[in-house]
Amino acid sequence: MEITIIKTTTNKKLSTPVVTGFGKYFTDHMFTMDYIKTVAWTNPQIITFDYLAISPSTSVFHYAQSVFEGMKAYLNDKGEVVLFRPYENAKRFKKSCLRMAMPYIEEDDFVQAISELVKLDKDWIPSEEGTSLYIRPFMFATDEVLGVHPSNTYKFIIILSPVGHYYPNGLKPISISINPIYSRSFFGGTGDVKCAANYSISLLAQKEAKEKGFDQVLWLGGKEHNIIAEVGAMNIMFVINNEVITPKLDGTILAGVTRDSSITLLKEWGYIVSERDMTVDELLEHINNNEVSEAFGTGTAATISPVGLIEYKGTNYHISDDIGPVAKRLYETFNDIKTKSDAPHREWVQIVK
Ligand SMILES: *Cc1c(COP(=O)(O)O)cnc(C)c1O
Repeated sequence: MEITIIKTTTNKKLSTPVVTGFGKYFTDHMFTMDYIKTVAWTNPQIITFDYLAISPSTSVFHYAQSVFEGMKAYLNDKGEVVLFRPYENAKRFKKSCLRMAMPYIEEDDFVQAISELVKLDKDWIPSEEGTSLYIRPFMFATDEVLGVHPSNTYKFIIILSPVGHYYPNGLKPISISINPIYSRSFFGGTGDVKCAANYSISLLAQKEAKEKGFDQVLWLGGKEHNIIAEVGAMNIMFVINNEVITPKLDGTILAGVTRDSSITLLKEWGYIVSERDMTVDELLEHINNNEVSEAFGTGTAATISPVGLIEYKGTNYHISDDIGPVAKRLYETFNDIKTKSDAPHREWVQIVK
């Protein structure tokens, strides 16, 4: 793919405050590319990060034909820019596009566009431990018509955001509330792809959990709405009697790259990892019997996020006040893999040349 690069004439970086939160500041440039049904993908370019001019009739506003990815660029100990398993995100993006009746992007083009953009805005990658440059590729329908049908035109954009620690308290365990009422996904639905609509339908539960004083929602799935599924943007794992249990990929949960990488590492370290259904009753019984030594979420945004407390129907189930050894080892190993050139699993790391 031949990408046209038009460099910005302003330098925003000097006026951008020190990064603390998540996804609030954006770099100088963005990648954009347009799809027209009769022409296919056209006009790949890197230009100044700027507003878009869009008609109020644009179909994405009305019917949410929109997908995205989330990944990160890091600086390693040699000052090189590193991506973590970018082809996994490229594959998942393609899967999301197909599910939403959208045209997809070839995996090589997806990774190339990210690499070129990150290379240009390399100076924005923060270097303090736990920080990174968040990469947000996304695509949306741009037909200016209110009919409900797959759009004939689309826009693919990549924006970059320097991020601090996802959780302001660092690695302190979070509290999660099991929602007994709402669903974020169902069999035959879109729970296993990253489409925008999955997140808008999760916001009310997230708001209610926050109001009750909990950080995140733990979703239930299964035909009887009693199977542990996942957290807002993280997969979930439990260490129960030295076995690591995580929900299986049944088509209703997102196949996280961090989940997959964690399972590989855990098996290498000798843990038994079971990908299986677990009912909420089974989980709570294990917690009551003091058999759950750790619970943690896995996902790009926070990498590993320990869970200290789970609430269900007004009762709090306490797991731990501190990060446990399994979560800590995973967290540190991922940090090493991304930043140290002598860490294991070099094949997971792609250096942006
Ligand atoms: C993105 C996401 C994850 C985590 O996936 P990673 O590839 O590990 O970042 C898990 N669950 C949901 C619902 C997500 O959107």
